[in-house]
Amino acid sequence: MTRTLIAGNWKMNGLKSSLGEIRDAAAGVGQGKAGVEALLCVPATLLTLAAEAAHGSALRVGGETCHAAESGAHTGDVSAEMLADAGATHVIVGHSERRTDHAESNETAALRAGMTPIICIGESLDQRKAGETLEFVASQIAGSIPDGAAAEQIVIAYEPIWAIGTGEVATPDQIDEVHTAIRTRLAERFGADAADLIPLLYGGSMKPGNAAEILAVKDVNGGLIGGASLKAADFLAIYGQAK
Ligand code: PEP
Repeated sequence: MTRTLIAGNWKMNGLKSSLGEIRDAAAGVGQGKAGVEALLCVPATLLTLAAEAAHGSALRVGGETCHAAESGAHTGDVSAEMLADAGATHVIVGHSERRTDHAESNETAALRAGMTPIICIGESLDQRKAGETLEFVASQIAGSIPDGAAAEQIVIAYEPIWAIGTGEVATPDQIDEVHTAIRTRLAERFGADAADLIPLLYGGSMKPGNAAEILAVKDVNGGLIGGASLKAADFLAIYGQAK
């Protein structure tokens, strides 16, 4: 059965004074519920403290990016090994904001460090208008999943760029079309049974008020949530709707 993952992405938000939100999220998640994982990806500066705050609960913490190398002369960067050392179980890779700012996709590093990469893919508004969505997303899948990766090691997040942080949400039909196409591509690569093990998250202005409708779409196995994950109450309201 496909696992469901409700994952938050705090982006460049959060100070030590925000740790109360992690503690509240951890208290709300408690020992978790069968088949549904809860994760908050936070800035590297907060990871160790966030992992401590979540300790004893089923809430996991993750990083938001990592460098491809294990260590070395890369001033300001953080390796997957460092994130794992700080308590991260997952790391977001290839988020559109990172692809734009840093031409990034470092899935291989996450696998090397024994973490789960959440591989972000998704089209721009221009690509959607030009009818290129499915072709583009297929090319991102082909280019982003490392050779030799096992299906149970990865998570994919479909995040239409035009829906991230804009308040604009893809319709259930749009999400259904893309997620079905992604699953088909994954089945070609891994075989149908293994492809079904890969959680496909939707990301883009997901909130407590629209989560149920989005999570009900076939082949949606959770969400990657930016703005609405900053408040434990909103994050938990979405987690509460996941099955
Ligand atoms: C994201 O950061 O991946 C995201 C989907 O953000 P938001 O939920 O704010 O649109």
